[in-house]
Amino acid sequence: MLKYLLLLLVIWVVWWAWHAPRRPGSRPRAQKPPQKEGEEKMLACARCGVYLPASEALPGPQGQYFCSPQHRDA
Ligand SMILES: [Zn+2]
Repeated sequence: MLKYLLLLLVIWVVWWAWHAPRRPGSRPRAQKPPQKEGEEKMLACARCGVYLPASEALPGPQGQYFCSPQHRDA
């Protein structure tokens, strides 16, 4: 009888481990990386037209964006 109880416990633990990652509590951790990548805006250099992430773009005096200081000052 104890053997069956142990087997039931093992099945329950396996079932719980299988379903636990899909619980709402762990959802934000799984969704964050793709969301962060999607938020990165791509901007075209006003001088050469090369696309680069907004975090690496250099803003120009008239609101344009450039890939490098050389293109911004050209
Ligand atoms: Zn450029």
